[in-house]
Amino acid sequence: MIELSPTTAMMLYLCFTLATLLGIWGYYHYRSRRQKVILIQQELYICEYCQCAYLAQIAKKVTQCPQCESFNKKN
Ligand SMILES: [Zn+2]
Repeated sequence: MIELSPTTAMMLYLCFTLATLLGIWGYYHYRSRRQKVILIQQELYICEYCQCAYLAQIAKKVTQCPQCESFNKKN
């Protein structure tokens, strides 16, 4: 049987705990970096009728307000 002093046992306990936490952090860190972000170019529009600000794709010439559902022409 290996004899451990209380200080050594405490240091081993702390090392294993820190290694476990570092492993969990590294796993979630690299897993989140692998996820790709898909970006669609959007622009902020302000509705001519209700003044509601909303995001819509830049390519569209006519956008629809999500609040009053009226169509707005791109200026
Ligand atoms: Zn509107």
